[in-house]
Amino acid sequence: MEFIFLCSRVNALILLLTLCSPYKFIQSPMDFGPLNLLQTTHEASLDFGRIVFNTPSAVLKPQSKTDIALLLSSLSASSLSRVTVSARGAGHSIHGQAQALDGIVVEMESLPVEMEIHKRKGEDGISFVDVSGGALWIEVLKESLKFGLAPRSWTDYLYLTVGGTLSNAGISGQTFKFGPQISNVLQLEIVTGQGELVTCSRTENSELFYSVLGGLGQFGIITKARILLQDAPEKVKWIRAFYDDFDTFTKDQELLVSMPDLVDYVEGFIVLNEQSLHSSSVGFPGNVGFTPDFGTREKPKVYYCIEFGVHDYQLEHMNIDEVVRDISRQMSYMQSQLYSVDVSYFDFLERVRMEELSLRRQGLWDVHHPWLNMFVPKSGIVEFKDLLTESISPDDFMGLILIYPLLRDKWDGNMSAVLPEVGSTDQVMYVVGVLQSANPDTCNHRCLHDLLQHQCSFAQTAHDQIGAKQYLGHQPSPLHWRSHFGRRWDQFARRKSQFDPNYILGPGQGIFTNPHSASSALR
Ligand code: FAD
Repeated sequence: MEFIFLCSRVNALILLLTLCSPYKFIQSPMDFGPLNLLQTTHEASLDFGRIVFNTPSAVLKPQSKTDIALLLSSLSASSLSRVTVSARGAGHSIHGQAQALDGIVVEMESLPVEMEIHKRKGEDGISFVDVSGGALWIEVLKESLKFGLAPRSWTDYLYLTVGGTLSNAGISGQTFKFGPQISNVLQLEIVTGQGELVTCSRTENSELFYSVLGGLGQFGIITKARILLQDAPEKVKWIRAFYDDFDTFTKDQELLVSMPDLVDYVEGFIVLNEQSLHSSSVGFPGNVGFTPDFGTREKPKVYYCIEFGVHDYQLEHMNIDEVVRDISRQMSYMQSQLYSVDVSYFDFLERVRMEELSLRRQGLWDVHHPWLNMFVPKSGIVEFKDLLTESISPDDFMGLILIYPLLRDKWDGNMSAVLPEVGSTDQVMYVVGVLQSANPDTCNHRCLHDLLQHQCSFAQTAHDQIGAKQYLGHQPSPLHWRSHFGRRWDQFARRKSQFDPNYILGPGQGIFTNPHSASSALR
């Protein structure tokens, strides 16, 4: 491993790296104390999207939160510096959000994982886990299950970091019930853009707490999070029901999210073709006998699948089969097209891992992922679905289209995550995830470029006509970001100048203009 510089004494050296330095980001004397800044790695300019590849000048593999604080306080103290810094979690962003062109990438997975479970201690006898920001959710699951506990709110895929998903929102089929992951955080430890280490919660330094949750890495680096836990169920009854009518499908989804006392998980997807039926079934261990007629190229036929889950706590007073029977009696799926399996809670939460392993075996995991996720107001969901299905050719589509309802009152409007601005009192909104893959063997540069262009104009139309908002998204310019935030923009910008006044953090998002911020590089 090659070091850009190494200083072993705590009494820091002041290194004078001038313009003739090969590492062009450091143009003035700067004191990083005992930090090891490493030469850039392949991973630092790579993410799951494989669309944007911005190379940083250096990488920090922090061994403690003090390393991060020292880096940011040094940069912030240097008025000449325009060096930017991005925290990189598991690098599962799509558009280079965790990258830092010519800046410094802080690899959060290098932070030694610390995890402490508190079972029914703490405030109000609540169970929680204190965990480092670079830990993966799968690690949190494994550790908390040892105590019979688990977080309440998840993402579909667990090989993402705590800090990475909390910087967005973290949603899955439990969100209707417990809100996104950001609604399930009791406390955070943050290194701000000025290098200050701050503990914050709803009652202590609350402005920082609300800013960072859903804050796209703009205000500080999450070094520790306190996450709510609940008793973990033993098993999950996992059910799939098929539909050939969109209105019936959404009506049943909304019925399910209106029964949070009985239902624990609700998602769904659009069945466009054989491939979307099979790829989504890799993790589902039941025999699905659904063999739909997809029509013709001229007149394609589209289907829908609801997926819901009921936890089995092995309680004597509750017969899970009866519960599922009662629920499904109220639903209007296609005749006999309901399938159910019993799986362990762990296997249920690990389900996307099965898909990952299957795609890896086929060489289809490390491909381009031009994904698009949008929050859609309920009032516009039919128009959105029509726009989407008209713009996709089922024969060519490779991937999955997720669609499921969320409830607005489970989101805290003071946090930074952006939802559609609806005037109505409608509680329900939808998330739609167009999770498309583009294999370089069959989709070349031109093809990927066209896909991205198409996606960009689709997202703009959905925003302008329906009021849909991108989740995990990329905006082509700071002006587009303003429009994305809408009436929340002033608050977001004010918080930025409060917690990262030198605009050091999160250049990969492209929200704020900085001479050294990332510009997309499509290779
Ligand atoms: P990165 O991509 O490394 O970083 C994302 C952003 O967070 C960057 O801006 C980065 O600078 C910032 N950041 C990272 N760590 C920190 C930190 N410690 N402090 C401050 N800022 C930080 N999302 C969902 O909500 N639900 C899903 O079900 C879901 N499923 C997914 C499935 C797959 C296969 C993939 C690839 C992604 C999925 N996602 C899902 C998206 C995922 O939540 C985001 O991409 C998330 O950012 C990934 O976390 P990460 O650790 O890889 O973050």
